Amino acid sequence: MGKLIKEKDEKGRLHIDTPLMGESLVGKALLRRTEAGEYFRMQPDVNVIKIGGQSIMDRGAKALLPILDELVKAKDDHKILLMTGGGTRARHVYNIGVDLGMPTGVLSKLGDKVSWQNAEMLSVLLAKHGGVKIGHGDHLEQLNMYCRLGYLPITTGIPPYGFFEHPAELGSIPPHRTDSGACLLAENIGARSLIYLKDERGLYENDPKKAENLDSLKFFDKIHVDELIEMDLEDLIVERPVLTFLKNAKTLKQFQIIDALRHPEHIHAALNGELVGTIVYK
Ligand code: ADP
Ligand code: MG
Repeated sequence: MGKLIKEKDEKGRLHIDTPLMGESLVGKALLRRTEAGEYFRMQPDVNVIKIGGQSIMDRGAKALLPILDELVKAKDDHKILLMTGGGTRARHVYNIGVDLGMPTGVLSKLGDKVSWQNAEMLSVLLAKHGGVKIGHGDHLEQLNMYCRLGYLPITTGIPPYGFFEHPAELGSIPPHRTDSGACLLAENIGARSLIYLKDERGLYENDPKKAENLDSLKFFDKIHVDELIEMDLEDLIVERPVLTFLKNAKTLKQFQIIDALRHPEHIHAALNGELVGTIVYK
């Protein structure tokens, strides 16, 4: 791929002759040239499903068990990686951390523990059906193997930023939580689809839980990510960074948000490519 060469002046650097030689890796023209025609997808059959912490898991058995039944059925037809949200316990610990003036990176580490609690619970509940808790390390290359063998791999949605979490634009809550982690992972493994299991039909123009009259609230069944970013809505059903991730994604073309609380059967439909909630696409 490249041979060693020495710069001509006497203190010249030793270079490997590569097209990126001597580049800052910041220049826009150079970066544009690194765009691949087609990106390699490591796990093109795997569907990433994020199960909401606050929206689903915190509601307990009545909400969760019918969803798990659907997932167990669906895994016979589709390869699935399940990722967990945090929910109210994460919000509680964020609140204490914020009160103490903790840096965002510390809050991120605290939230991570809660999402792991949910992954732990799911792996116990699904153990007899092949549920297996996996980490963010080498297991991700092995996803296809797990799924082929009939396992249902489960991991935390929090991306491993920890002390490297980005400062938030507003306030100090870590901006990249479990919706973000699921999106980043789906993109980087080249997943077949990304589905968010929530407790609302999909995306409205504002939080339906705070609306006096749901009928007067505009609902989006399909929306282009650029349009959604442009609208800059006051509140969203997914974390805001997810929109920029999708906009810049190389392999991920869309994601769907569905109401798995009232309609667990929508999981299978969404896996089959049906529109049953809101699809955000690029
Ligand atoms: P999760 O636990 O899955 O991460 P969250 O509770 O964090 O879910 O986010 C989902 C919630 O977002 C919904 O239950 C809804 O009340 C709220 N929400 C805020 N803005 C919107 C919007 N524009 N459209 C739909 N739901 C919204
Ligand atoms: Mg959330």
